[in-house]
Amino acid sequence: MKTQEEIKAYKADWIKKRREKLKDAWFLANGPCRICGSWEDLELDHLDPMSKFTHRIWSYSEPVRIAELAKCQALCHECHKAKTIEAIKQPVRQVSDYNKRERSYRAQRRQRRAHV
Ligand SMILES: [Zn+2]
Repeated sequence: MKTQEEIKAYKADWIKKRREKLKDAWFLANGPCRICGSWEDLELDHLDPMSKFTHRIWSYSEPVRIAELAKCQALCHECHKAKTIEAIKQPVRQVSDYNKRERSYRAQRRQRRAHV
């Protein structure tokens, strides 16, 4: 007979393993790094920074996860870092009112989703 704590730990471990498996499978299918071709320390890079998601993507339900992953590419840690630094160096673009509205709409929608 297992204690509640043991069952809880077992479940957490199972979820973690499942997440790792999903991650490995995705990187295997989408790697190596799009910039340098490395298989080391691959990370998800969102092609559209406007619709960034959290690292919790691997816990999402399958349809949501697949839709989000379709907007991503694999980059190694070094290239991802370099790309992020480049993006920060870009001059700030004029944000139209439409874009501002769109951005806050997306943020609200994201928050709602996070609370479900
Ligand atoms: Zn790279």
